[in-house]
Amino acid sequence: MTGLADYSGHVSHRHEDGDKAYINSYRETRGEIRPEDVVTVTLDSEPVDPDALRPVGETEIHTSIYRARDDIDAVLHIHPPYMTMFGISGTDLQPVHIRGSVLVDGPVPVFDCPYHVTTQELSDAMVEAMGDRKEVLLRGHGAVVCDESMERAFSRAMYLELNAYYQHQASVLGNPNTMSTEEAQRVYDYNWQDRVVDKFWHFYEWKAIEEGYLPEEW
Ligand SMILES: [Zn+2]
Repeated sequence: MTGLADYSGHVSHRHEDGDKAYINSYRETRGEIRPEDVVTVTLDSEPVDPDALRPVGETEIHTSIYRARDDIDAVLHIHPPYMTMFGISGTDLQPVHIRGSVLVDGPVPVFDCPYHVTTQELSDAMVEAMGDRKEVLLRGHGAVVCDESMERAFSRAMYLELNAYYQHQASVLGNPNTMSTEEAQRVYDYNWQDRVVDKFWHFYEWKAIEEGYLPEEW
């Protein structure tokens, strides 16, 4: 619905046991994911049930982050058009809009590799490029955004794409005015409170029900 994922993005959540993850299967179309399309995988990217559906081809993106980062419980691999441009152009994606204040730690790092992240070698290199951040651009491909919860990972991804849109459009008009660290921190402290993230999440839940992407009884 939001256009973040397109036809082949994927989303995962860490399993309650900690050492497994839920992820969408390879086969279903991204517009119609049902509970039976979710696969439980080990952190080595293998389905727990050998008879389960095959997980997505880049499951390693997710499991490598869960292996390396105790602070992360939700991961999105997405192909958002504006963010992706910044992973191609060499221009830093910086906080220019209040939503972009999530970039309080500086520009989004870029994993300088255009290949599909299908091996542990590539995924570990991607995690290294991400460092202690919660977002990384994949050159010529898309982005990986993660956080401590699905609500925050989704909100972070939407905030970053909106900020990328404004930075790009403003650069057509002139030189975008980037927030200072102090400005970004102050906006971030307000914008990233639970109640603001909840409001953002509930708006998109409502919109998804209204547009028929989620069932009425959600
Ligand atoms: Zn991709």
